[in-house]
Amino acid sequence: MSAKKHSLSGSLDDQLDEIVELGLMRHLRELDSPQGVQIHVEGSDCLNFSSNDYLGLANHPVLKEAAINAVEKYGVGSGASRLICGNIRPHVELEETIAAFKGTEAALAFSSGYAAAVGTISALLGRDDIVVLDKLCHASLIDGARLSGAKLRVFSHNDLQKLETILKWATRLQVEETHARRILVITESVFSMDGDLSPLRNIAELTHRYGGWLMVDEAHSVGLFGEQRRGLAEAFEMHDDIDIHFGTLGKAIGSAGGYVAGNATLINFLLNKARSFIFSTAPLPAAAAAATAGIRLIQSEEGESRRQRAWSLIDHLKSELLAQGIVPPLTQSAIIPIILGHENRARAVATELLKRGIYVPAIRYPTVAMGKARLRVSITANHEVEQIKQLCRVMAETMNEFPEGWSDENSSQT
Ligand SMILES: *Cc1c(COP(=O)(O)O)cnc(C)c1O
Repeated sequence: MSAKKHSLSGSLDDQLDEIVELGLMRHLRELDSPQGVQIHVEGSDCLNFSSNDYLGLANHPVLKEAAINAVEKYGVGSGASRLICGNIRPHVELEETIAAFKGTEAALAFSSGYAAAVGTISALLGRDDIVVLDKLCHASLIDGARLSGAKLRVFSHNDLQKLETILKWATRLQVEETHARRILVITESVFSMDGDLSPLRNIAELTHRYGGWLMVDEAHSVGLFGEQRRGLAEAFEMHDDIDIHFGTLGKAIGSAGGYVAGNATLINFLLNKARSFIFSTAPLPAAAAAATAGIRLIQSEEGESRRQRAWSLIDHLKSELLAQGIVPPLTQSAIIPIILGHENRARAVATELLKRGIYVPAIRYPTVAMGKARLRVSITANHEVEQIKQLCRVMAETMNEFPEGWSDENSSQT
């Protein structure tokens, strides 16, 4: 018995059983098609409302061509980390492109946004410092903050008063102790699971008043906000008030990777100190070249028309939801969460939608709080009005089949 209990499988099985009981079991679904609006999932065609490919660039011919050309010219693998012999022309070009796009002195590309977050935060801060995050910040930011060893404080979502209280506490600590602590405030511009916006101007004002640095994650706003489509900070005309611009190359930009943009000293520092950059093989040349092509496309007229199309489809979705008796969130972004409550209900609705050919993910704990499970609908420039109508119709029917409060204990195996 006890041998079984302490065996790898025995011990992990117990934990997996708990996950199943809570309605939190996750599994992978296999797609056999490119990323897009119509995808082939586990043998059937369905309409995709789950992607972060907001401008429809992931399967765009211009990005594909850039990737193919990079493979032809530079091969597949990078062979080593950037600092050894893996710093290939497409990486350099990508960083120049990011810096020009973001209007910063310099930029550094990482193999993923997750790696960029973890490497950056843990390089900037140590045990003597203070890191302050919005409650709904992405896991990569939380993990970076934890890894840094800095004192971690969380302010309630978008709560400026709470943020100020923490900043006051932090400055008191600075005075009480002899050495100057660093204070880093981190928030997202568009929150990934709620789709709402951060009051960036106020956050920047507070952060700087108390001597902190501001890092903003624009993962879900690049391409959609701002005249140059740089993100929400540009739209709020406070782009230059951000010390550390952070984002991913894997969402609206259509490729894979992460970046930090800012002044040359920051980038030089990270190049020397960010362990996820130093000790990791350089991104594929094809990924870097596709990201460069994605950013250039976003900067072009086509980028502007794709952005406008996405926004008009988002408006369609909201009015169609209302027409079906589903109240959409008031927020303005390509992420439209429909809160369903119980984890099992969200999963049951999502499973039924998929049976009917519509793929919308059920987002559950720990991605969101317990009891706040939701359908996370995301819109891309490649959707059609008809498809959005179909989504709303089927969603209303399915939500009625599994009404509020629905929670089938026996359904956890499905
Ligand atoms: C996706 C995401 C990341 C991580 O980026 P990857 O490139 O996917 O690793 C970071 N922050 C937010 C808010 C995200 O949504």
